[in-house]
Amino acid sequence: MILVVGGAGYIGSHVVKELVKIERVVVLDNLSTGHVEAVDEKATFIQGDIGNEEDLRTLFSEYAFNGVMHFAANSLVGESVTNPQKYYTNNIVSTLTLLKVMLEKNVNNFIFSSTAATYGIPKVDIINELVETNPINPYGKSKIMVEQILEDYAVAYGLNYVTLRYFNAAGAVETGEIGESHNPETHLIPIVLQHLAGLREKISIFGNDYDTPDGTCIRDYIHVTDLAKAHLLALQSLIDGKNKTATYNLGNGFGYSVKEVIETCEKVTGLKANVEMTKRRIGDPARLVASSSKIYEELGWKAERNLEQIIQSAWKWHQHPKY
Ligand code: UDP
Repeated sequence: MILVVGGAGYIGSHVVKELVKIERVVVLDNLSTGHVEAVDEKATFIQGDIGNEEDLRTLFSEYAFNGVMHFAANSLVGESVTNPQKYYTNNIVSTLTLLKVMLEKNVNNFIFSSTAATYGIPKVDIINELVETNPINPYGKSKIMVEQILEDYAVAYGLNYVTLRYFNAAGAVETGEIGESHNPETHLIPIVLQHLAGLREKISIFGNDYDTPDGTCIRDYIHVTDLAKAHLLALQSLIDGKNKTATYNLGNGFGYSVKEVIETCEKVTGLKANVEMTKRRIGDPARLVASSSKIYEELGWKAERNLEQIIQSAWKWHQHPKY
């Protein structure tokens, strides 16, 4: 039995979709940003908050969990700058509460969602896990602080964990049953597809004066189901004792510029986007591309879907979003 906190959110719900194929799953989510409709019906859904120690104790007494996957975090970079208290409280303090109850109940296997934002503005073209972390906003800082806490808990309390640093998660399950639905939506692919579906008048490219071939920012887009599969392998590596502690990047290894993403959306949908060029968004690095060779070498994982497949699946969802 696995506890997935934040399992009603975008990435969490896609992981649950894969996990229910092999495990019994309980989802705990406060629905602050998640959608109950996104939770697979084979999972048991409980509405609640990981910051509530007593509720967590009750939950851990009711179920015998072999592990916990943690997706219950706030993840808007801009909001983290204007409201850092929210980010440090929800992303760090609540995580400490969750870890406290886990350890009290002898649940030692933990999968932690981290982010490429921990690298800040890296000096290298391809980022592996040895690249120095240097987050430039409270969101990224909240994630690296938890990563550091996990290192100490592993030494002191025998916590086993895998930290997964996501690059740009995108796409939806192939059936179009669940997909990406944020409010507000800040991510490029859903914004472009919402525009092409007629829900937005135009789209903006945030800066075309970066030091990249076409001047727009380059990112590493990874299909959310590929991402989900990495979580299952990571959890298995803890259960098998193959890993005690590990940190892996999750990306495709290919970079695509904002312009290339928009062109691919146009190709997949057969529609033309109305694009305006605006100034840079604060805090955007020119290029973020992952090396995921560590997880390939250690756990045999690699991304299987390319940008076009990512956008095809996302388009299926965005034509008929259910929540
Ligand atoms: N972006 C853009 N227009 C938008 C949304 C995003 O030009 O409406 C750019 C953004 O500046 C970044 C890239 O698209 O260079 C990916 O942004 P997103 O927010 O999807 O992910 P991030 O890399 O910031 O996590």
